[in-house]
Amino acid sequence: MARHTGPVCRLCRREGLKLYLKGEKCYTDKCPVSRRNYAPGQHGKARKKLSNFGMQLREKQKVRRFYGVSEKKMRRYFKEADKMDGITGENLLKLLELRLDNVVYRLGLASSRPEARQLVNHGHFLVNGRKVDVASYRATVGDVIEVKEKSKNSPKFKELVEKHQGKTPQWLELDTEKMQGKVIAEPAREDIEIPIEDHLIVELYSK
Ligand code: SF4
Repeated sequence: MARHTGPVCRLCRREGLKLYLKGEKCYTDKCPVSRRNYAPGQHGKARKKLSNFGMQLREKQKVRRFYGVSEKKMRRYFKEADKMDGITGENLLKLLELRLDNVVYRLGLASSRPEARQLVNHGHFLVNGRKVDVASYRATVGDVIEVKEKSKNSPKFKELVEKHQGKTPQWLELDTEKMQGKVIAEPAREDIEIPIEDHLIVELYSK
């Protein structure tokens, strides 16, 4: 499935869930999910009872849209998660959470995941001192992620760091002065923000 290029707020309304794709607007009362929490389109208000398959599909779409990954990549993550020890659904979320664009967002160095992806692609970040411009790069425990020297003076990063202070999840550490973050542990299930039933995704992909 190709990447969605239309209005992103429709995706949140479709899923009936805030996916936080627009940065600051998501936290204001301008957020369309707060104002019109029903699916977009002519029949959006009509309540439909979802089949089992429908529920599995919606849970998968929520996660895919939340992290901004294509169907192809999502399946690849699932295959990998399935081969790992532990609970497949949790493994899947952990792999997604460790993507560099997500880590940048969770450190507060971008206002949304789509913005984090763009900033990574534009080469604003170093991982362990080396430029990494691949949003899907998988962070590991001990990785140090920082804004590259040239970008540190940008008012954008200064503002982002100021606004984010104190909101870093417990598996990450942020030095606001240095604009430098560190992965200090792997994310646990309770660290993952999206309210979904991951077993439904496992059921969908296991068919
Ligand atoms: Fe739009 Fe953000 Fe609200 Fe989603 S959460 S509907 S992206 S403003």
